[in-house]
Amino acid sequence: MNVLVLNCGSSSVKFQIIQTDLEAIKNDQDKMLAKGYLERIGSQAIITLQAIGQPPLRTAEPIRDHKAALNYIIRWINDPNTKIEGIKDLSDIHAIGHRIVHGAERFKKSILIDDEVIDQIEECIPLAPLHNPANLKGVYAARDVFPGVPQVAVFDTAFHSTMPEENYLYAIPYQLYRRFKIRRYGFHGTSHRYIAYRYRKIKGIEREQVNIITLHLGNGCSACAIKNGFSLDTSMGMTPLEGLVMGTRSGDIDPAIIEFLIHNEGTSIEEVFNVLNKRSGLLGISGLTNDMRDLLAEEQEHNDRRASLAINIFCNRIKKYIGAYLAELNGADAICFTGGIGENSPEVRRRCLSNLDFFGIKLDDELNEKAVGIKEMKISAPDSRIEVYVIATNEELLIARDTLRVILNVPRIW
Ligand code: AMP
Repeated sequence: MNVLVLNCGSSSVKFQIIQTDLEAIKNDQDKMLAKGYLERIGSQAIITLQAIGQPPLRTAEPIRDHKAALNYIIRWINDPNTKIEGIKDLSDIHAIGHRIVHGAERFKKSILIDDEVIDQIEECIPLAPLHNPANLKGVYAARDVFPGVPQVAVFDTAFHSTMPEENYLYAIPYQLYRRFKIRRYGFHGTSHRYIAYRYRKIKGIEREQVNIITLHLGNGCSACAIKNGFSLDTSMGMTPLEGLVMGTRSGDIDPAIIEFLIHNEGTSIEEVFNVLNKRSGLLGISGLTNDMRDLLAEEQEHNDRRASLAINIFCNRIKKYIGAYLAELNGADAICFTGGIGENSPEVRRRCLSNLDFFGIKLDDELNEKAVGIKEMKISAPDSRIEVYVIATNEELLIARDTLRVILNVPRIW
C-alpha cells in the first residue's frame, strides 16, 4: 500500500509517500518513495519536492491555501516527468495518513477519518487552537482532492494516554479538570513511540520490557518516561509550552510571572503568551537565535556569554527531567536521544549527561562524537549502568504504518 503522509501546519504542508504492508513492517522494509515541503502557503510559497533517487526540485510559486498545495502535489505526482518508483499517477496513492496534534481524551489511538471523527477533532480545537485547525485544513483539502481515498488520523497525544492520574492531573481545583479537561496530555507521542519501538527492536525484547527515558530535542522538545512499554510521564502539558526549554518556547516557568508581566509591563495576556511561545527559550535567553547549531558556533567562535547561557540552561533542564524520571521509573535501562538536536549534537548530549556519575551514566566520548546524522547507535561506555542511544526519529513511518493497520483493521503492535 502506498500511503501519502501529510503533516499540515498553519502555512505549510510536509509530505512523504511511503510504501508499506504487513510483511514490510515485519522485516522493516517499508520504503519512502517521495517527500516534499511547501512552506509560506498563502503567499509566494517555497516548494521542495523529491522523488527518492532523483535530485530535489526547488521552486517558488504563489499557493493560495492548503487545497491549492495538495493540488500542486497531485500535479507533480501525475506529471510524466516525475519519476516516483511504483507511482504512475494518483490512482497509485491508496491511503492518506494525517498527523493530528491534539486528540484530547477522546482519541487514544489512530482512527479512520469520517464526519464524526472530524467533528470530534474540531471539538479539540480549544485545547490546541494553533495546531488542530492547521491539521484539519489538510484533512478538508485531502477529502476534496482525493475523494474516496481512506484517510487516517494519527494523534501526537495518543501515546501518552496511558499516563496515570497522578501524572496527568495538575494540582489545581479538580473541578477544572471535570469542567474543562485541563490536564497534561503530552505531545511528540508518535516520536516517543517510534523511539521506544526501535529500542525494543535493537534489544530484541518485548514491549513490556522497555523501561527507558526518551528525549525528543528539536525546535520543540519533550522528554518521556516509558515504563513497561507505555508512557508513564512526559514533560509537555496541556499544551506544548510546558517542560523542557525549546527553540522559542520557555518550557516550565512560575505561572505567577504571567500576572507580574501583565501588571508591571502593562502587557496584554496575548502578548505574554506570544513572548512565552515565540520569543523565549534559546532565542529569548541568547537574544540571538533559536537554532542550536548557530548557538554552539557562537559559543565556540565568539565566546558569546548568552549563547553559552542558553545552551547550559537548555541542557540543565533536560538533566533535571532525567533525574525526575529516573526516580519515577525506579531506574531505567536506557536514555535515548532523538530530534534535530538529539541526533546531531554530541556537545548537547555530553552536557545533558555530564556529572551523572551518581546514576552510573557514562558516555563513550568517541562514539558520542561519531553519532551525528546516523540512524541509530549506542553511545554509552560498556560499563555505563544505563545505556545511552541516539536513534533518528521517523514519525512519518509510524503514521504510514498506523494508516495501513487501521485500514486493514489489524491491531497495532509496536
Ligand atoms: P528539528 O525541529 O527536529 O528539525 O530540530 C531543529 C534543531 O536541530 C535546530 O535547533 C537545529 O539547530 C538543531 N540541529 C540540527 N543539526 C544540528 C547540529 N549538527 N548540531 C546542533 N544542532 C543541530
